Amino acid sequence: MQFENSREFALNLDGQDELRGYRDRFFIPQHDGKDCVYLTGNSLGLQPKSAIDRIQQELNDWAKYGVEGHFDGKNPWFHYHKFFAQSVSKVVGAQEHEVVVMNNLTVNLHLMMVSFYRPTKERYKIIMEGGAFPSDQYAMESQAKFHGFAYEDAVIEVNPREGEHHLRTEDILQVIEDHKDSVALVMFSGVQYYTGQAFNMEAITAKAHEVGALAGFDLAHAAGNLVLKLHDWDVDFAVWCSYKYMNSGPGGVSGAFVHDRHANNPELPRFAGWWGHQEAERFLMKKGYIPEHGAPGWQLSNAPVMTMAVHRASLDIFDEVTMEQLNKKSVPLNAYLQYVVEEAARTNDALSFEIITPEERGCQLSVLTGENGKALFDHLTKHGVIADWREPNVIRMAPVPLYNSFEDIYRFGQILADF
Ligand SMILES: *Cc1c(COP(=O)(O)O)cnc(C)c1O
Repeated sequence: MQFENSREFALNLDGQDELRGYRDRFFIPQHDGKDCVYLTGNSLGLQPKSAIDRIQQELNDWAKYGVEGHFDGKNPWFHYHKFFAQSVSKVVGAQEHEVVVMNNLTVNLHLMMVSFYRPTKERYKIIMEGGAFPSDQYAMESQAKFHGFAYEDAVIEVNPREGEHHLRTEDILQVIEDHKDSVALVMFSGVQYYTGQAFNMEAITAKAHEVGALAGFDLAHAAGNLVLKLHDWDVDFAVWCSYKYMNSGPGGVSGAFVHDRHANNPELPRFAGWWGHQEAERFLMKKGYIPEHGAPGWQLSNAPVMTMAVHRASLDIFDEVTMEQLNKKSVPLNAYLQYVVEEAARTNDALSFEIITPEERGCQLSVLTGENGKALFDHLTKHGVIADWREPNVIRMAPVPLYNSFEDIYRFGQILADF
């Protein structure tokens, strides 16, 4: 598409956007009486206006029924986790019993590692991307140490080539090949939080399996962003949070995927709790743990209904669209962002930066700024742009198809060029 740097052009694209009505379903933060240019849906998605009704419903049932709300409420809390399987499985490309909503992201990552990182003396290494999100680095480090391995020896990081900012799939596959006799787990993010690179999860999984390892993914930046096909790609497990592209509120509940082939494997060790026990016997308080079929068998605790109510509000919206539809908008929206950024740099000598996000990406664009990066970021903030600064000098922007418009992007370009 041939882009133009004009409001008229942006408004015209908005007029043709079949998703344009969804913006009104969210609260947009305000600045000087106008909508902010909100580009941080990759960090905290905006609040669906229906969230309050969803929470209010549960508060009402609690007030009205007390503990009986577990069975008598409109959405009985005893079954609450089940109200997510259908919606969430659609978002991540899974079968319904392969997903569950529970806990927080890093907790779920550890729970999955308990089952799927089973190192032996010969096969104990974890291969991951270099510069992964800190929580994932700490999780891998502590897991390796927990099993008695030295971090430096057990955790292999794949880094970009000299002078490059993102990873080549061939290099990832080569590192797996290089460690083919010693790798136990290949653990990548779906979309790299810093560079915005979307990894080829299918190829990485296939290679991991070829050498006899398992493949897991942290989809914090991929769930609700990319078209995912976890089941078909044969991924062993995955985890994600609901508060980034899934708009479910700060610290909102997380999700986990366990592939069908592990659904009933009694050999898999796991940490257990009463909510993962077979439902028919959950309240019989019997000895002997028998897990539920599939991912729900990894639950520990009863559902945190208030935060899950917000997630339900958000998923009501995801139920109305497909990830393909969202993707169909996010690709040109992000391309337009890249265009206005490059236009601004072309017309303003004070702007010097490099885009470090490759074409394989979702909603995000990351730019590596020069010396005046922080001043530039402050300029954006002062003029009503909410973007994200990452040390040492990267600005991340994520236009989200559900609530960002082409006009947002045009306005952003004007503010940027004005620096
Ligand atoms: C956002 C994010 C997290 C955050 O973890 P929480 O347990 O939800 O605090 C972890 N890993 C990655 C890759 C992330 O992007």
